[in-house]
Amino acid sequence: MFQKICTIYHDGIRARRLDLEVDILPGLPAIHMIGVSETVARGVRERVHSAFLAAGFSFPAKRITVNLRCPDAARLKAGLDLPVALGILCADLQAPSHRNINTAVIGDLSLNGDVQSVQRIGSFGPLIHEELTEAGITSILVPAGNAAEASLLPDLEVLPVAILAEAAALWCGRLTIEPLPHIPLQYARPSADALLSIRGQPAGKRALTVACAGGHNLLFLGPPGCGKTLLAHAAPCLLPVPSEDDLQHLMMIRALSETRLTQQVSRPVRAPHHSITAHALIGGGRPIQPGEITRADHGLLILDEAAEFGTGVLEHLRTPLESHHIHLRYLDRAETLPADFMLIGTTNLCPCGQFPSPACSCSLQAIRRYQGRLSTALIERIDLCVLLDAVPETDRQAYTPLDVAHIQEQIQLAADRQEARFRKESFSRNSRIPPGKIEMYCKLQSSAESLFLEACARFHLSLRTRHNLLKTARSIADLADQEQIGTQQIAEVLQYRPKGFLSGVTPT
Ligand SMILES: [Zn+2]
Repeated sequence: MFQKICTIYHDGIRARRLDLEVDILPGLPAIHMIGVSETVARGVRERVHSAFLAAGFSFPAKRITVNLRCPDAARLKAGLDLPVALGILCADLQAPSHRNINTAVIGDLSLNGDVQSVQRIGSFGPLIHEELTEAGITSILVPAGNAAEASLLPDLEVLPVAILAEAAALWCGRLTIEPLPHIPLQYARPSADALLSIRGQPAGKRALTVACAGGHNLLFLGPPGCGKTLLAHAAPCLLPVPSEDDLQHLMMIRALSETRLTQQVSRPVRAPHHSITAHALIGGGRPIQPGEITRADHGLLILDEAAEFGTGVLEHLRTPLESHHIHLRYLDRAETLPADFMLIGTTNLCPCGQFPSPACSCSLQAIRRYQGRLSTALIERIDLCVLLDAVPETDRQAYTPLDVAHIQEQIQLAADRQEARFRKESFSRNSRIPPGKIEMYCKLQSSAESLFLEACARFHLSLRTRHNLLKTARSIADLADQEQIGTQQIAEVLQYRPKGFLSGVTPT
């Protein structure tokens, strides 16, 4: 008899629905598995056979065919034992199907019939709305060891099972169990201690506020000890609160780096060391593995001492900084992974770090070579460039603590304004406005327009830089709750324009 069962597998970072078909026909006793590698098939066959006998079921002495309709067999590795076992039990009429229409099944089996946990179940959230709901799936059978993670899944009845016999009884309606209560995800805002510990640097803090409000890329330049690294690492507490859907997406991203998922979700913050390879930064390999830029999706990528990264490594960021995803290919396999992150870089201006102060001992040639490590093309993709000085002692003494709660509220309000403005668009942040829509969304007051045009001509600003400045000015106006961009916002944003580092600062 023929049976069909819905299961779930991991296709790269995403979970996908998979229909598994089982048919039992007269013939020599054997299990044939189609659409899966021989190594995986052998493991499934042996475990299912042993688990059947341990659970007290008789293994059908017939020809069993299991067909897995998956576009890439290499992706099927784990979680198949339980759906295959239930499929055989149904097809053999030992556990006549009661739930197969609307229930997905995932789980592995041990030889004694226990249902074994699988990885990354908590990251199925986006799959439920994209594929399961439209296929009519309303519940899921999961291993009892995954119960805590599975209860985080929205809009799905979660039924945990510990042994094969229990799963079979539940499957054919001889047993009913209480579905797990759903636990909603919560955003865990990172502590503001790092930001509160920074004395002085009001310009740096303001730039951080603007960048977090609109999701803009930011580069801090300055001598060692001026606080640029601290500022970069203080940014997570200022990022706006994600939406309900974004929380499920963040969960999926988090599952790439963490094994145990909990109710508390925060935005990812990735800060790779400058010795990282291009492969580890952008992803690749076989099977294709996500890199740091995908692990930082919907969060922050911090590149401390950006000029120290390997020659050419950072150049790989140019495309994802524009398109917000990365297209990877290895031999016959191609995959597009998300890479929608906010970049914060820090760098010195010369090898000794003291430039432009008189204490710098580097030659002009060495300074040029050092600054040349960050290409113009990359710098042009960074919306805010902020030159920081060492904090004067008077600023340290006259320090008044920052009102972080007020800044967080301002940023949240600015993010909400953007959300409302772009509700019919495919993007939701000012930094993501495409070139064709800049004019529509970044409207300037007439006085601001003449100031902007004058500055563009005077500083010979490229079209890309002009667009970046306008998008950043839009975020500053959102922070001030202004419909149109005024001269004040243009004057502020011009300070953040990417300068050829040496222009305007000459070695003494
Ligand atoms: Zn120097």
